[in-house]
Amino acid sequence: MDDDLVSIRFENNIPPYIAGQFTKIGLKLDGDLVSRPYSLVSAPHEDFLEVIYVNVPDGKLTPHLHKLDTNDSIFVMDKASGFFIMDEVPDGDKLWLVATGTGLGVFISLLKTDSPWKRFKEIVLIHGVRTSGELAYQDQIKELQAKHPNQLKYLQTVTREKIDNTINARIPDAIKDGSITNICGEINSSSQFMLCGNPDMINDMVDLLGTYGLERNRRSKPGNITLEKYW
Ligand code: NAP
Repeated sequence: MDDDLVSIRFENNIPPYIAGQFTKIGLKLDGDLVSRPYSLVSAPHEDFLEVIYVNVPDGKLTPHLHKLDTNDSIFVMDKASGFFIMDEVPDGDKLWLVATGTGLGVFISLLKTDSPWKRFKEIVLIHGVRTSGELAYQDQIKELQAKHPNQLKYLQTVTREKIDNTINARIPDAIKDGSITNICGEINSSSQFMLCGNPDMINDMVDLLGTYGLERNRRSKPGNITLEKYW
């Protein structure tokens, strides 16, 4: 993985959580607790917690997370929360999981649980990054592919490098020009989309999916698009 892209694991001593939820993690810095929300990459049955982050050298928290060593302490908010979870996603035939950057992590957590595999015939995982070094969690994805060879399709889009066997375009553009649907099949009313990451990607995807007649999923009015914006 890219040097600035880091995943850390730490002790799980919080109450049970649901795959897809986030928690705040932080450090005491000059007497103040500095914390930020992070989606959990770990799955509820695992005995550790894991998050992925980009190290921002002039950021308030990540440069200090970066200096942590084994056995150092970290603050974890007591209870994970959030609604980017399978129970909020209506039924369908095909589940499209679309992430940019570190947004992939939450899908790794979801895919380590049984629910998506039991509820959907097909799952498409699309990860969009700037450079190939940011294509995280290759080992876990290979394991998932080996376990579900006929159910999972995994596509990578890399926008700032030309890389073989990846799509070199932003995800919405690659849907528009057919390079994604040629591999993964058509988007239709039995598709459920979960979108996570860059808010501009999410806005562009919501607009594009609107042209297919797909709308945001709300508790008051179920739809086909469930989303989590990262900033
Ligand atoms: P990002 O900027 O969101 O880029 C991830 C992918 O999303 C890229 O392929 C990008 O394409 C694409 N994207 C951007 N806008 C889009 C849109 N409207 N529709 C569809 N796709 C879109 O995520 P990131 O690289 O993880 O960076 C997140 C933040 O962390 C940024 O502020 C960045 O400066 C900072 N950062 C990241 C790293 C790292 O290692 N990833 C290192 C240092 C700092 P384009 O390439 O065409 O924009």
